[in-house]
Amino acid sequence: MHNIETANASTLKQISVIKKRAHPLLICDVDEVLLHFIPHLERYMNARGIYFREAVYRLTENMFHTETGKNLPDHECLKIIYEFFESEVSKQEAVPHAAAQLKRLSKHCDIVILTNLTGDQNKSAREDLLKSIGIDYPLVTNQGPKGGAVAALCAERDGHPIIFVDDSPTNIVSVGKSVPHVQLVHFVADPRFFATAEDLPNVALKSNCWLETGDFIEDLLITALR
Ligand SMILES: [Mg+2]
Repeated sequence: MHNIETANASTLKQISVIKKRAHPLLICDVDEVLLHFIPHLERYMNARGIYFREAVYRLTENMFHTETGKNLPDHECLKIIYEFFESEVSKQEAVPHAAAQLKRLSKHCDIVILTNLTGDQNKSAREDLLKSIGIDYPLVTNQGPKGGAVAALCAERDGHPIIFVDDSPTNIVSVGKSVPHVQLVHFVADPRFFATAEDLPNVALKSNCWLETGDFIEDLLITALR
């Protein structure tokens, strides 16, 4: 029995219009994978007198007021993240080599961008920004763990390799449980968060470098063709 997560209706609708075919697929996250996220969020927080106490993968329970030393309750952390995206989604900087490596891999597989983001405007802004740096593939927005969305994206691709790249331990674990045949790449661009990221089960590659990740995925795809 697999522990299948279910994607929400909006995500499934977006997936339903993506071309399906018997071909390999690379599913790639955005924040901290294609675009820098942590350093932008930290700058945004610092300007508001807030900092991360630890460089660990926990956005809530980890934001503290510089002046009082008190931690922010969960709902205030989520509000900061929400406001951060409203303000910064069109300004995030590219992770080095990501665009070129996706282009290289697109010769061997279809590519879908799967990003946790709310709001149609944020989605358009993110699509525009990615296109401007040469990343022009179908983009699906999701909320919560990504296992359900990845399961839906795998439809009609039986027997072909599927690779999922994400920084979030929650998403890596969710996809690993929901769709066990998917190859998992745990990618964290930020060097401090990469250094503290725990090793997750069944991860094929843990990396913070797109040159290494591009080589690794191309090898997987070419080996699968043999
Ligand atoms: Mg991410």
